[in-house]
Amino acid sequence: MNHEDLRHWSKHAADWAADYHASLRDRPVRPDIAPGDFAKALPDLAPEAAEPMQTIWDDFIRLVPGAMTHWQHPRFFAYFPANAAPASMLAEQLANAMAAQAMLWQTSPAATEMEVVVLRWLAAALGLPHTRGVIHDSATTATLSAVLTMRERALGWEGLSKGLSGAPRLRLYASDQTHSSVDKAARLAGIGQENLVKIVTDASGAMRADALRAAIAADRAAGMLPIGVVACAGGTSVGAFDRIGEVVAVARAEGLMSHVDAAWAGSAMICTEYRALWAGAEAADSVVMNPHKWLGAQFDCSLQFLADPGPQIRTLGLRPAYLETPGQEEITNFNEWTVPLGRRFRALKLWFLLRAYGLEGLRARIRNHVTWAQEAAASLAALPGVETVTPPSLSLFSFALTSGDAATEALLGRINADGRIYLTQTRHAGRYAIRVQVGQFDCTAEDVAMIATVVSELLP
Ligand code: PLP
Repeated sequence: MNHEDLRHWSKHAADWAADYHASLRDRPVRPDIAPGDFAKALPDLAPEAAEPMQTIWDDFIRLVPGAMTHWQHPRFFAYFPANAAPASMLAEQLANAMAAQAMLWQTSPAATEMEVVVLRWLAAALGLPHTRGVIHDSATTATLSAVLTMRERALGWEGLSKGLSGAPRLRLYASDQTHSSVDKAARLAGIGQENLVKIVTDASGAMRADALRAAIAADRAAGMLPIGVVACAGGTSVGAFDRIGEVVAVARAEGLMSHVDAAWAGSAMICTEYRALWAGAEAADSVVMNPHKWLGAQFDCSLQFLADPGPQIRTLGLRPAYLETPGQEEITNFNEWTVPLGRRFRALKLWFLLRAYGLEGLRARIRNHVTWAQEAAASLAALPGVETVTPPSLSLFSFALTSGDAATEALLGRINADGRIYLTQTRHAGRYAIRVQVGQFDCTAEDVAMIATVVSELLP
């Protein structure tokens, strides 16, 4: 296959993509497939001889879409969304066509400078004063980068050279509502799971600042070294928010760095009326939010805003001779801000997205999702034997059957076997609950109303 063949097949793929998206409402959100079924249809070894593209294409059509969970289905209400607005998909096609590495300014000047500009656009749109930042693949990487920086700063930049043996026991603090990516960061950064101190939350799910202060004091008294605090702005389980201002103030008073995980909820902050939920984020050292979740930038696209990028660059930056740009020491080389060296041109999809829908267009979608989630929660709570477990936090809520965990779990099984909608579960306050998040880019009020319809039909 050469680039002339690619011209032909790209057009074919574009037609298929449009038809695929138009067909989504007629498909079950999740495939009816057992583990191992799909792999059985593939040969054991790679082909020795080239195959015609038509054969490969036919196999794709025959095998793949029917074995996929359709994340762009308008009735996908599971996990969090991974939206891919058409304009961002188009940008991805262009980025793929150029297939450039955006690691140094000179390896991709437009990508580097566009990244600087769109981060500034987004910071202003979110009401953040952070004018600098970087695009990562995922929030997991952003949080790992922040935690590595916390570690190095606390160790006086010696961990990078000397390693951690002989270092005091490091302590990181987060609420019990934060995402497992914080646990992963603590593990990978050599801090250790046991030294990630999960601070208790109050009835609203917010970290108790007094408990945070007390934990830091107790750790210091025991000879341990606190390194930083991760605040939760929209937890994955039920959408919990810390009172960010209080948490960041404690961190600052204790001389610790703060990082806010707003991977999901951050997108909503383009609407001024929701910003009270993360009041104080503007004072944090680092904030992560994922436009690839709710905003509409195709995965992967995770933004980390930094009050001062210096400590992170000092932690992650390396400049061997083969990566130097002679005569241009002061330019931005984004590989020095992130864990991987190689980087995709991710700014392009944000540039397309923000221009094609405008902030007002994106706000309208998010406001609709929040309103429709509230309506869905009310409709479900009105059904016999159904109760709200957690009320809507933005567009995420959870519900259960009053008859208990086993009945609720069985109901979820019936809902997902039905296929018209897709929901997932969580545990909250010791209880099994069904999570509902509304946020798919193209969903309508009717799609969301389907949740109560399906549940009412499938009640025991
Ligand atoms: N933080 C929160 C609150 C999340 O909900 C998630 C994923 O759902 C993450 C972090 C991790 O995101 P990513 O998949 O971008 O690493």
